[in-house]
Parts: sequence; structure tokens; C-alpha cells
Amino acid sequence: MITPADSHYNRTPQAPDDVDPSLAALVGGVCRAGGWTISERDGRWELSPPGLSATAAASLGATGGLDWSRSTLGAFCESVTGLATIHAEPSDQVRSVRQLSARLLSHYSVDAGHIYLGGCSLDPQPLLRLSWTDGRRGVQHEWLDRDGQPADAGLVESLGVERLTVLPRPPRRWDERAADRVCQSRPAPDPVVTVVWVTMATGQVIASVGEHAVGIPFSGWAHRFAAGVETPPPYRCPETGAESYHLAMTDDGEVTCAEAIGECDVSGGRQLRSQLVTCDATEQLVSVNSTLICALSGKHVLRDAALNCAVCDQLVSPRVVAGGRCELCQSMQFVATDDERLKRLLASRIELSTWKKWQAAVSDQIAVYSAVKWTRRVVLVVDCATEQVVRRASGSRWGNSFRDDG
Ligand SMILES: [Zn+2]
Repeated sequence: MITPADSHYNRTPQAPDDVDPSLAALVGGVCRAGGWTISERDGRWELSPPGLSATAAASLGATGGLDWSRSTLGAFCESVTGLATIHAEPSDQVRSVRQLSARLLSHYSVDAGHIYLGGCSLDPQPLLRLSWTDGRRGVQHEWLDRDGQPADAGLVESLGVERLTVLPRPPRRWDERAADRVCQSRPAPDPVVTVVWVTMATGQVIASVGEHAVGIPFSGWAHRFAAGVETPPPYRCPETGAESYHLAMTDDGEVTCAEAIGECDVSGGRQLRSQLVTCDATEQLVSVNSTLICALSGKHVLRDAALNCAVCDQLVSPRVVAGGRCELCQSMQFVATDDERLKRLLASRIELSTWKKWQAAVSDQIAVYSAVKWTRRVVLVVDCATEQVVRRASGSRWGNSFRDDG
């Protein structure tokens, strides 16, 4: 006879030979959860409530009545634990964050900083196991999620549910009618329902460098994290969309993916790659803040490398300048004085009517006009959108230097 004093938790007798081992394990677990004792007599288990060791309340074995049906095993469970549904958890369930933290953090690294858990909660989530016997195939289990939908078999297998420990009560509020509803919608005959509470881990990993830090949220099955079957997500840089487990900090104090950080060839500063551009003039990778956009090519040019066209005065890349003139101003062609824009231009500037040999070049943004009189040349730059003259300058007819006219 095994008594509570003998700690029958550890000394459950050998199950009868004619009982399916998984049924014996479940019945044994229910008994332990309810404080019942198990004794062995004549090749069968006698299951007794606390203090009533002499009276067998149920038996298992050659003449026992328990089997994989809800009507018998469910009724037995109810008499032992007060619940018609069996509640259990995986025997090697993750029970503390400490069991997880090292494995979780091992995926991440941060240059010159620290990786640590910024918080992690372990919450049991219910999975339903429906069990019944199929004469030819033996004991069958079907797994459902809490809503009664079939659970992915591969996922369930990875949750460590082969060995279960029966719980005296559900770890969280549970509507016992949920099992009834699920059973009614299943084709299996009178299945035994076991609610298996599997731990979900939710929290965030912190990557910090000095006073700067970012959080990387994660959520998943604790057993899968602990077993290395599932990895927490990488950090996703909100600026560039890059993802990585390797983090670092820019000179601006932004902690992000190391791969998203580059070095400015001029300043040596560490910046987001999205903030670095190639200078059209020097072909260096440089901070976008140190560049301007070439008015002609639209490419980035270091401010120090950009040139003003001698004629139109636009800031442009040296690559589109020859002899001090930008490509637009090199392409000037003679125009007739009945050119519509030129006519409008001259209409309000009567003094220009004496200038001859008008030439023009037009881009999407500006139109450049020039004309000559004796030894002088006048230049007019017109904003195409507003038709405003944005520059009026003059100089030698043959030179390449023009001074703005007051
Ligand atoms: Zn120009």
C-alpha cells in the first residue's frame, strides 16, 4: 500500500500490463493531483481517495473500468479533482525566465554595448488534446487550439507535450463548457479532453550602448525558444528596413543594425547608410547633409566640390562644366526675336531691344538668354515656372566672366 506519507508522487507502482501506458500515466497524474493513492493488488491498480485506503474507489487493470472515454475517465477525474476536464502541462515546461534568458540573448550582439532582457512574462496558453481508442490503431490524440481549430502537428510536436504532468486546477480561468462545445463538434467518439497549458513567453530584448538603447519585442512558445527550435526576431531598423541580430550605434546615438551603418569618407563619421550618398564629383561616400543637388544632373555633389556656372550661376557638378560653363550654357543656340518667351522678356525691358544676336538654352527649370552689343554681352536667366528673371549680368563679349547688373 502506498500512502501520502510515502510520497506516492515518486512511488507509483508499476502499471498493470493490460493497461495502455499513456492511460496509466494520465490516471496516475490525476490521482497525484487530487491526493489519491494508488495501490497494486492482483495485477491491477486500486485508486483510493485520501484517508480511505481500504476502500477502492476505482480500479485499473484486468477488471478495472477506466478507459479512454469521456464518460468513464472524465467522471473519474471529476470525482478526484472536481473538474471533468483534465488539466495538465508539459512535464519539462519552462517555469522561469532564467531558463530562457541565456538562450534568447545568445542570438544578439551589440558593438561596445550590452544585451539584456528588458522584460519577459510567461503565460500558460491552453491547447486541447482529444484522446480516444480506435480498436485497430490504439490510442489516438488530436490537438486543437483554444478555439477548437486543429493545431499544426509539427508545432505541437515541438512543444514538449509527450510527457504531461496533471495539474490540480487550471493555472488560469477556464470555462469547463469549452471542452463540451469542442467535443460536440468533433467526429471522434466520446473523447477524453485534456487541456494542456503550454507556456508562451512575451517580452523584449534590449540592446544598449551608453545611454542609448532599442527594444526588440518577441513572443513565442517558451519551450521552442529554450530548445532553440524557434529564434526571437532580429532587430528591424525603422529607417532602412534592414534586419539583423548584430547591432551598433551611429555617431548620432542611434542604435540600429550594424549593416545599416556606414562611414562618411570625408568626416569618418558613422551614419545610417540611408544618410550617405555618392558625391558625383569625387565618387566618395559622404553624408547627404554635406552635399547639394546638381541643378543639371540631379546628382549629389559635395558642397565644397560644386561649381557655379559662369553664365547661369547655377551650382552644378564639375562633371557638367567645361570652360567655366555648364552643359546647358554650352548648348546655347541662336533664336529669332519672335521667340515667344523672348518677346515677353523684351516687352517689359525696352532697353534690351538694342542688343543683338540673341541665343538661348532651356532646361526644365531655367531658360538662359544672352545677346551682344559692341564688345559687351548680357545674360538673362529666367525661372521657367514663374517667368521671373532670376539673374541679369553682363561682361565682355568674348570673356567668360559676368557681373550681376545692379
Ligand atoms: Zn550655366
